Amino acid sequence: MLFRLLTSLVFPHYCPSCGHEWFDGVGFICSECWKRLEAFKGYRRIKEHELKERTQIAFVYNEIARLLVLHMKFYGRIDIAEKLGSVLFQQFYPQLSQIKFEAVIPVPLHSVRVRERGFNQSAVMASRLADKLKAPLRDDLLHRTRNTRPQSRLSNQERENNVIGAFAARPPVNRIPGGTVLLVDDVLHTGSTVKGCVKVLEDIGIEDIRIMAAMG
Ligand SMILES: [Zn+2]
Repeated sequence: MLFRLLTSLVFPHYCPSCGHEWFDGVGFICSECWKRLEAFKGYRRIKEHELKERTQIAFVYNEIARLLVLHMKFYGRIDIAEKLGSVLFQQFYPQLSQIKFEAVIPVPLHSVRVRERGFNQSAVMASRLADKLKAPLRDDLLHRTRNTRPQSRLSNQERENNVIGAFAARPPVNRIPGGTVLLVDDVLHTGSTVKGCVKVLEDIGIEDIRIMAAMG
């Protein structure tokens, strides 16, 4: 009872999407809103075929998803990022269980944003996935060299330009994973951001990079 009271103070039991108190949801959203999260099927907006081939996305970025992201980013709801990490694992378990991952790597946020927000939601998801996959979390490999503008407000071409040169491998790069790695992002729109990360990871010698995002 005390534990429930304390957790409800930290993470109030109301749905970040509709605002109703929930008792029967999946742990971060009420069951009605959970039903309205749509499974992601189309990869049309991701431009490059090669990127599509290795990308898995759980949900369509609809209004429910947008509100979840808003609460993660701006209302400190780290619990949503944790739960999304678990949901990704459950949803893609058949495919994930076929692969031995040498590292789970989050798309990095700029250090200024991490300080403002308190956490990197992609890193929280990646950490949960790494735990479940029993693979090392390597949030030390990539970093953001520039505090780029939010991709969601930009056109496709602006998104491409916005992330050019925005990522780097954190020097010195030691213990570079040799096999397959999993790159994790919260929302994948056109793929420009993950493409920037993939390029840097390939440049340091990682060849097999799989991509996973909660929404797209
Ligand atoms: Zn709801």
